[in-house]
Amino acid sequence: MGFLEVKHIRKTYTGRLGAKETTALKDVHFSVNEGEFVSVMGESGSGKTTLLNLLSTLDKPSEGEITLAGTPLTTIKEKELSKFRREQLGFVFQDFNLLDNFSLKDNILLPLVLEQMPVKEMEDRLKPLVEKLGISQLINNYPYEVSGGQKQRAAVARALITKPKLILADEPTGALDSKASEVLMDLFSDIHAMNQTILMVTHSARAASYSNRVLFIRDGEVYHEIYRGDQTTEVFMDRISKALLFSFDRGEQDGI
Ligand code: ADP
Ligand code: MG
Repeated sequence: MGFLEVKHIRKTYTGRLGAKETTALKDVHFSVNEGEFVSVMGESGSGKTTLLNLLSTLDKPSEGEITLAGTPLTTIKEKELSKFRREQLGFVFQDFNLLDNFSLKDNILLPLVLEQMPVKEMEDRLKPLVEKLGISQLINNYPYEVSGGQKQRAAVARALITKPKLILADEPTGALDSKASEVLMDLFSDIHAMNQTILMVTHSARAASYSNRVLFIRDGEVYHEIYRGDQTTEVFMDRISKALLFSFDRGEQDGI
C-alpha cells in the first residue's frame, strides 16, 4: 500500500437551489510512496486546487477515499482536523505567508507554539533544521530584513518543523522570478533528499522537472504520468514540456 493513497476520488460542487452541479474531480486515482516528490500539472480549471483541498482535509470528497500513512482522512473527527493539519501536513504557499512582526524564528516555531511544545524541545528541533536550510544566522531577523530567498527558506522551515508526513505545495514558484524559483526548487530537492514526501501543484515544467514523477490532470482526471527515473532535470523538463504540448495538440484536435 502506498504512503498516500488517493482512491477513486470524485468531487462534485453543488450550487444553490436550481444551480447546476460542477464535477471538479471525476475519478482521480493514484498513490505516492514515502519519500517521493510528485508534481501535479494541469490547466486552469482542471481540478488541482480541489485535489489539494481534499488532501489537506479542508474539504471532503463526494466519493472515494484518501489515506495518509494508513489513516483514512474521513475517519479523523471534525475537531481533530486542525490538529491533524498542523502536525501531519506542511504547507508551502505562493506568497509564503510569513508574519511581518514575528522574527523568522517565531514564524518557524509558530506551529509548535500552537501545540504547546516545551521550549527546550522547540529549540532542539529548530537548530538542526535552520542549519540544514542555511538560515541559522538570520533567525532573529524579521522578514523585511532578509532577502526573498531567505524568506522562502524560513517558510519551508516552518512547514518542516512539525516533521509532517506530507508537504503540500500550491504553485510555490508562482510569484517568483526564475532565479528565486531555481533557489526554491533546489531547496525542495534538499528536503526531498531528507526523505520528505512532497506533492506540488505547478504550472512550471521547470519546477516539475525537480520531482520524481509528474501527474497530468485534465477535466478532473489523471490522464497521464511520467517518471523521471535517472534523467537529469534538463532531460525530464524536455519530456514534461512535450507531454504538455501533446495534450494541448490533442485538445485542439478534439475541438476543446
Ligand atoms: P484548478 O485549481 O486546476 O484551476 P479547481 O479545482 O479550482 O481547478 O476547479 C475545478 C472546477 O471546479 C472548475 O470548473 C471550477 O470552476 C469548479 N469549482 C472549484 N471550486 C468550486 C466551488 N467552491 N464551487 C463550485 N465550483 C467550483
Ligand atoms: Mg487552482
